[in-house]
Amino acid sequence: MNPNHKILFEPVKIGPVTAPNRFYQVPHASGMTEANPRVRAAFRGMKAEGGWGVVSTGAVSIHPSSDDSPLPFARLWDDNDIASHALSCDAIHEHGALAAVELWHGGASVMNRTSRIAPYSPSGIPWAATHVGFMGQQRPKIMDKDDIKDVIAWQVAAALRAQQAGFDIVYIYAGMGYLGYEYLLEEYNHRTDEYGGSVTNRTRFVRELIEATKDAVGDKCGVALRISLEELRGKRNDNFASEAHAVVSLLADVPDLWDVKMDSSPTDCGASRFREEGAHEPTIDFVKSVTDKPVVGVGRFTSPDTMVSQVKRGILDLVGAARASIADPFLPEKIRTGDADRIRECIGCNICIASWHDGVPVRCTQNATIGEEWRKGWHPESFNKPGSDDRILIVGGGPSGLEAGLVAARRGYHVTIADKASSMGGRLNFETSLPGLNAWGRVRDYRLYALQQMGNVDLFLESELTAEDILELGHQQIAIATGAYWTKSLYSALEIPLGTLDSPNVFTPDDLASGVVPPGPVLVYDFDNYYLGGVIAESLAQQGSKVCYATPAGHASAWTIMTNEQPFVHQAMHELSIDVKTQTLLTAYENGLAQLENIFTNAPDQLKVNSIVIVGLRLPNDALYQTLVSRSDDLQKSDIAAVQRIGDCSAAGAIVHAVYSGHEFARSLDNSEQKSYLRDIPIQLNPPGLAI
Ligand code: ADP
Ligand code: SF4
Repeated sequence: MNPNHKILFEPVKIGPVTAPNRFYQVPHASGMTEANPRVRAAFRGMKAEGGWGVVSTGAVSIHPSSDDSPLPFARLWDDNDIASHALSCDAIHEHGALAAVELWHGGASVMNRTSRIAPYSPSGIPWAATHVGFMGQQRPKIMDKDDIKDVIAWQVAAALRAQQAGFDIVYIYAGMGYLGYEYLLEEYNHRTDEYGGSVTNRTRFVRELIEATKDAVGDKCGVALRISLEELRGKRNDNFASEAHAVVSLLADVPDLWDVKMDSSPTDCGASRFREEGAHEPTIDFVKSVTDKPVVGVGRFTSPDTMVSQVKRGILDLVGAARASIADPFLPEKIRTGDADRIRECIGCNICIASWHDGVPVRCTQNATIGEEWRKGWHPESFNKPGSDDRILIVGGGPSGLEAGLVAARRGYHVTIADKASSMGGRLNFETSLPGLNAWGRVRDYRLYALQQMGNVDLFLESELTAEDILELGHQQIAIATGAYWTKSLYSALEIPLGTLDSPNVFTPDDLASGVVPPGPVLVYDFDNYYLGGVIAESLAQQGSKVCYATPAGHASAWTIMTNEQPFVHQAMHELSIDVKTQTLLTAYENGLAQLENIFTNAPDQLKVNSIVIVGLRLPNDALYQTLVSRSDDLQKSDIAAVQRIGDCSAAGAIVHAVYSGHEFARSLDNSEQKSYLRDIPIQLNPPGLAI
């Protein structure tokens, strides 16, 4: 181990329990619930195996009045829910880590769509009604004193169940708009009783939750307070440096651990396009000066030196991570063994968050094995032995080809990757040159670095392969990873791709990647709806062009609401004076005039531009694959056992899909069972029909 990193492996006492080191996987959504307890246990257990000293759940609801459906959430509503959590605790304990449970009442920010209980709130104020998860028409009820007593009793009951399940640390949640937080903020708390008004009164509910939890389980479990401080830090207070200082001072030594964070998912879990590593520091840096209890916080930390600096400078005692632990569950172990340069660093794309918004188990661009530990038996650091001495040829060194090559080589196959370009990386080589996407280059760099260390790998650049080449090269398993191309397709009001716009000065991202600079003013027309249209518009504006961005969707880069990026996409475009036209179709381009119309009303519009970039329909580059599979006799003569297409060449998607496809290809070599997965089912101790 690098001696400078030793401090990260010191134990930290949290109330009656002790974390074996400073690596703390903070609570984070996983999309895993009581519906898939084995998937969840294997997922959390893998983090413990990778060296995280504390491994936490995501939000665990304490009562049906905290019901986030249809978004996935876990529960400890009654004793029926204990056994599935016990599975996770056992998996975490097996590797010597502590298990933490984030008990949670969502207050006004849950819609209780299934339980149909009116949401709870201090003063009837709804929360963030435009967010995909919180949108609903059920306004919250104002809690009376009996409701307050009920919530405290539910917290205690859930804490006792958590202790029975085996958890070592039990949370009170007062962040991110959830119930405890709503009491802290005067905008949400208009109460005139002892729970409202002064800061002391506004912290009373949270204090009572902590004290009751400590009374119930505090002799065996550490009791942690998770709190958002962003809004509070910005507020004036007559007696303290800010309201955040006041709240933390009032509760200073009440919890055994402070878990401090930002207020909303887009700022707390900021995408790398818009937030640097360690971006929380200015908000949370004061907490340790106010309390003697240990403090944990996050900041997309992937560099051990940054982690050490957080500890040495007295910002944090425990280095928290959600995303860094998803991208590389073995990050602590790699630091411990002096292998920090093998860390698969999170790229900050927030595809993991999008999985939660999608309502499915977590997925990660960098780590294809996440969520597949039990379903497919995939371990991020160990690989099944090769099933033959077949030589593997991968045509194309983009995200899919590099991942396929790395996993096949780690299994022990001899691997050749050939790419026609002058550097490996495929689409990443262009895209990482665009505003905010530099960190995404880690997808290429991590894999390329690892491949370059291996003796069973040959890498060839500037090697465009034809079917004839492949038939002659003497490999038995071929993966075609030749990517996809952007078309100039237009789009109809029924959202069907419609004809192509072949006029002069109409370009696609592929043209820009090959060096074309579209003459300004430029119209960027985006119905791909993810990041690329937006970043191309930003890039052209930064280069000095006047840019209009148009999309049939209601927002710029509409799908980025799933990745927490959307508010900042609009901010970035505004700052660059990009004219944003939503609900807009492009219908024609003649004589320098782009013909537009509103997708709902057909109201026409015109725009004078010198070029158009269409970011819309993308189709596979599969000609080479089709040629090869049509020559089955020649394949047989050349002793080629299989030709498969992977990544975008199979189905054009985001980078996460390409990496997963490459990984699955390599795991499945000589083992086709790896293409299927085990189906998890709930654990149920009592018969169904139990009243809650
Ligand atoms: P994916 O996301 O599926 O990995 P990319 O588009 O990022 O796809 O990468 C595809 C790669 O395939 C590019 O680097 C491209 O240069 C390479 N490529 C395409 N056709 C050939 C070919 N015939 N021979 C070698 N490389 C090719
Ligand atoms: Fe990081 Fe992206 Fe993986 Fe999330 S999906 S952990 S942001 S690399």
